[in-house]
Amino acid sequence: MIREVHDLKNKERADHELKFGSFNSFPPNWKPIQEDDFWSTFMTYSPILQEYRQMYPVRNDDPSRRDHNARMTVAKLFYFGRDEGLAMVEVVVNARKVRPQFFQFAACEHEWRHTGTPYNCYNTYECTKCKMPMAIDSSD
Ligand SMILES: [Zn+2]
Repeated sequence: MIREVHDLKNKERADHELKFGSFNSFPPNWKPIQEDDFWSTFMTYSPILQEYRQMYPVRNDDPSRRDHNARMTVAKLFYFGRDEGLAMVEVVVNARKVRPQFFQFAACEHEWRHTGTPYNCYNTYECTKCKMPMAIDSSD
């Protein structure tokens, strides 16, 4: 069963919101993607966390506050490893929910730097921005 953000304990939830924002905010690096790109990732990997959000843009006159007069964006967010995620945004036409729009987001737009090849077909990388490590074993 996928965990829900609202079920996280206090400390875990505070850490989560520091990285990804809270219920009324858009997560960082929010970008539209094509439906086939959404499905390709969604069917390949399993989300580790999910969240329902009602998001508002920041105010023009005060970016530290939300503009609750702007149109609300209702979304279901799916979190994967590497602090990245996918989202489906609700689209309502004539009071009916129709095909959603698809988005991606990420705590960091990783830029991977090759750090080594400890053995054949095994390569290590590190993000130059957030220092997250990654390894790819291409021998599979
Ligand atoms: Zn990064």
